[in-house]
Amino acid sequence: MSRRLIFHVDANSAYLSWEAVRRLQHGDRLDLRSVPAVVGGNPETRHGIVLTKSIPAKNYGIETGESVFSARAKCPELIIVPPDYYLYMQCSKAFGDILREYSPLVEQYSIDEYFLDYTGMVKALGDPLETAYRLKEQIKQELGFTVNVGISSNKLLAKMGSELKKPDMVHTLFPEEMPYKMWPLPVEELFGVGRATAPKLKERGILTIGDLASADPRHLKLFLKSYGYLLWNFANGRDASSVRPDRRVLIKGIGNSTTIPFDVDDRQTASLVLLSLVENVGARLRQAEYLAGLVSVSIRNKEFYSYSHQRKLFMPTDSTNKIHETACQLFNEIWHQEPIRHLGVRVAELCTNSLLQTSIFEENIEKQRAMDRAVDEIRSRYGLKSVMRASFLHSGLSCVAGGTVTEEEYPIMSSLL
Ligand SMILES: [Mg+2]
Repeated sequence: MSRRLIFHVDANSAYLSWEAVRRLQHGDRLDLRSVPAVVGGNPETRHGIVLTKSIPAKNYGIETGESVFSARAKCPELIIVPPDYYLYMQCSKAFGDILREYSPLVEQYSIDEYFLDYTGMVKALGDPLETAYRLKEQIKQELGFTVNVGISSNKLLAKMGSELKKPDMVHTLFPEEMPYKMWPLPVEELFGVGRATAPKLKERGILTIGDLASADPRHLKLFLKSYGYLLWNFANGRDASSVRPDRRVLIKGIGNSTTIPFDVDDRQTASLVLLSLVENVGARLRQAEYLAGLVSVSIRNKEFYSYSHQRKLFMPTDSTNKIHETACQLFNEIWHQEPIRHLGVRVAELCTNSLLQTSIFEENIEKQRAMDRAVDEIRSRYGLKSVMRASFLHSGLSCVAGGTVTEEEYPIMSSLL
């Protein structure tokens, strides 16, 4: 059997490039990509975060996920543009349409990333490497932005390949190339090695992806459970998941908010309300088979004054506990200690969970996922209140709040932000 040929195509600094292209098309002389610039949450407040940065901004040490406030401290002349998801949706769709000229098997992985199965297309369209260059140039010519293409025999290696040198590059990363292209890289650059996992590996002398690939999987299992085995497989370039063209990223975010029947003025009750909101958000996220990369919390006080705060996660998740933990941190960071009337939680920056269908990301997650799934299953059969966390007993609160449920479909995105 001949091996599969998978492309991973990733738009470079997507949000920023897309904004830059729009401005150039509208007669702007300045290309945002050529100056220190970021797309950031809310430039007027200190709470917005950097979603995407230009390469000159990166050279000032500005990082994705840091606050716009601290980014501006590093570079006072930094240009900050607000996000425009309607624009991103249009660019993302046009990007996918071009890819579908090269194969019917195209799967959207996130708003700016696609997998393409080229296996059956070689006869019709020719050499994969030449095709990748052609495709990259076509996107540049027709849509004005650059992409990286990774080519390999599976999705994992294709994705790792597209992460190699950026921007505007094509890289192959076939299994036989791993020893010199992937194994020398720091272990935290391996897909799936998160902020919590990397230090545990390093403590044990596993510094590179190659160290992980040659580690004894039984040893890894001792401190990372079955997740260690999964990472060991990844480090060795093993992944059998298929490109699923039916999978599209259709929703941008999932939110839930509630008006509380009494004024909340302590952290513990607020944490419970947040949990009741997250229970619902988490279940919908899992049902849609997405992971979220961003969590935000909004607060409205007695005087109807609203404020919000958001954070990018280091690893996308669909875990109720993880989202709740982040929501509580965000709440604690911004709450002015006044009585609250209304609370909201929202997750965004969704990507599909297809690369890691069963066991995802951070360690100990398997147990949590099994638990989340069990609860989802029981609730779908016996009703929302058939299972509740003990902390809700006698709290006067519903264990699953469903005040205002918002599922944000792309077509109605213009109303957002
Ligand atoms: Mg990208």
